[in-house]
Amino acid sequence: MFNRIKHNPDAPFTPRTVMLGGKAAPGYHMAKKIIKLFNNLARKINNDIDVGERLKLVFLENYRVTLAEIVIPAADLSEQISTAGTEASGTGNMKFKLNGALTIGTLDGANVEMAEEMGKENMFIFGLKLHEVEELRRQEYNPADYYMCNEELREALEQLKNGTFCPESPGLFEDIANDLMYHD
Ligand SMILES: *Cc1c(COP(=O)(O)O)cnc(C)c1O
Repeated sequence: MFNRIKHNPDAPFTPRTVMLGGKAAPGYHMAKKIIKLFNNLARKINNDIDVGERLKLVFLENYRVTLAEIVIPAADLSEQISTAGTEASGTGNMKFKLNGALTIGTLDGANVEMAEEMGKENMFIFGLKLHEVEELRRQEYNPADYYMCNEELREALEQLKNGTFCPESPGLFEDIANDLMYHD
């Protein structure tokens, strides 16, 4: 979204505030890196003159039930985008739904039951179904193919690699980019 605004600052854009909450276990290096990345993105995007008030990122510090009680009823859109087959259930998805947020998500975990209960027409479903994920894994899955074919994805990953969001320590997010390129 940031790159789209930067490339075309006068194009229409529905204003958004993106919130991310979560905690990382002490030894979970990649989760810590992702939180760091989100905070660095926030620093860059929230202070960008072309972006202005149209896009804001907020990391919810110390996310816990007390904060969830405020944030969940206030949310307009709930993103539940795990790869099909990876989420056991999810409860946050149901809390958002019950409090009136729209859901964009994959058919995974409790999203499946939510879609059954409320009707698929009331949910924004996208992504591979479980059997399609399994089929892709059986074939040769090469994440780098998507990087080659999708210009926006390529730009985003290049920015992770070249230190756009961490000029003070340029290699910091390279492992996230490599994980996405060669593994996930
Ligand atoms: C519901 C809840 C969770 C679990 O969220 P999921 O999206 O199901 O992983 C975690 N933390 C808090 C504070 C919650 O209220």
